[in-house]
Amino acid sequence: MVSRRLLLGALAGLAAPALAFAEGDGHPPSLLTKKGRRTARALNHQAGDKAALDKALATVKPMEAEPAHAPETEAAPQAVSPDEALGRLKQGNAIFARGGANISLPTMLRVAELSKGQKPFAVVIGCSDSRAAPELIFDCNLGELFVVRVAGSTVSREGLGSIVYAVEHLGAPLIVVLGHTKCGAVGAAVDVATKHAELHGALHEMVLPIIPAVLEAGEKHPADLQDAAIRQNVRDIAGRLKVADGILAEKLEQGRLKIASACYDLTTGIVAFDA
Ligand SMILES: [Zn+2]
Repeated sequence: MVSRRLLLGALAGLAAPALAFAEGDGHPPSLLTKKGRRTARALNHQAGDKAALDKALATVKPMEAEPAHAPETEAAPQAVSPDEALGRLKQGNAIFARGGANISLPTMLRVAELSKGQKPFAVVIGCSDSRAAPELIFDCNLGELFVVRVAGSTVSREGLGSIVYAVEHLGAPLIVVLGHTKCGAVGAAVDVATKHAELHGALHEMVLPIIPAVLEAGEKHPADLQDAAIRQNVRDIAGRLKVADGILAEKLEQGRLKIASACYDLTTGIVAFDA
């Protein structure tokens, strides 16, 4: 049984970076946008103090350049619908799971074409596990998936910014939060919750955001805790993403974005999507 007392104690000392995104409101200004440049200029005039400026600019996150043809104030048009994008991922995984992955390395012509801009049809939030590479298990090529990967498939504030960028500026119509069987990060969170395992430093911080899912899974499926926690974790993250950012919420409301969760089976190669 999960010790809620122990975990509440552990969580009390947590800055919860991976959970904090649900409470945020704005986006970090990019130095590549007018707003970002204005911020930098304003700070420069205002302070005249290099230390203050350096400190303030440390919070400004440079982001990937937008395609030259896409005005920075205008959202990119959608090439495929959310359901079509989901269908492509399912079809790609079916090909992979049959052992017939048919992507080939892109030609240099294709590489050069992609240098002009990108239009990924899905954002995949995945675990860093080397056996769960999204491009391979969905049979996708360069330029097709915008991938954010951290062990345990959690989303930090910076990760949320990456996701919003892909949806708002690159027009991605689908976000999939992808977990996988035998996830070591979730296993570590289960050990912290049930065996009082102690992790140090950054490892501790990596695992803490997963613990609420372990607690919830422990109440519903105590007999198969790790597997249940893996599935609960991606469902929770997908649920939080739906309310984490105004841009995402607006596109969801308009039917121009879908957020799904799924689990990849390391043994069969099959991705099972939650309904
Ligand atoms: Zn994992």
